[in-house]
Amino acid sequence: MDTQAVRARLLRRREELQSRASSASADLRHESDPLSADFAEQVTQRESDEVLGAINESAREELRQIQAALRRLDAGTYAICVVCGEPIEEGRLAAVPYTDCCRKCADGQRGGPRRAR
Ligand SMILES: [Zn+2]
Repeated sequence: MDTQAVRARLLRRREELQSRASSASADLRHESDPLSADFAEQVTQRESDEVLGAINESAREELRQIQAALRRLDAGTYAICVVCGEPIEEGRLAAVPYTDCCRKCADGQRGGPRRAR
């Protein structure tokens, strides 16, 4: 596996998320946009706050996983499933570069095996 390429991909993604998260939290502070005294406008502003909060939260979660993946790259355990210790499928790593478990365990974590094929 080309760990250099994987690392570069993770770092790029991390930068992308960090810049998105920081611009979203700047919006949340309302520094240049104090809450309007008009009630209807306040409601609209609160709704968009919730959307921003959700973006922030999923970005934060993804950032956490990317950090963990970078640590596993350093430790040499990047492609090893943390649940069962088996190698993670290469196709899965290509699709989700920060995943920490194999397809079988990921399916198991989502509430039991899926319908047999
Ligand atoms: Zn596994």
